[in-house]
Amino acid sequence: MERYRDIGLKLTPQRLAILEFLDGNTSHPSAEDIYNAVKEKFPTMSFATVYNTLETLRKRGLLLELNIDPERKRYDPNIEPHHHMICLRCKKVVDVHFEFDIKIPAEQLKDFHLLGNHIEFYGICPDCR
Ligand SMILES: [Zn+2]
Ligand SMILES: [Zn+2]
Repeated sequence: MERYRDIGLKLTPQRLAILEFLDGNTSHPSAEDIYNAVKEKFPTMSFATVYNTLETLRKRGLLLELNIDPERKRYDPNIEPHHHMICLRCKKVVDVHFEFDIKIPAEQLKDFHLLGNHIEFYGICPDCR
């Protein structure tokens, strides 16, 4: 929670509940998932509050936005470099912590200065097979 202390937003109880839900969360929730989870505690919470908070965190580099799920954006509070696997049936997104040794041929790379990569794997998870 410490890293969320100075996000430039007033930390209302509702926003704190969003941050608490995200902290250490590895389920790669969508904005709707987050809204539904926090709404249980704060029934008057608006979807806009959730979305604005997520956008602020994303712009400050505290939250990753994943486009791995074609149906909805997914969010990842784990901002350390890692890769993802998605189950095409249940849309579960799983972290892949492995440093792949992939290289782009020099003639394609030209003078592009690479800072990182993100690999997305698609398949069917054990629960769905
Ligand atoms: Zn699955
Ligand atoms: Zn992840």
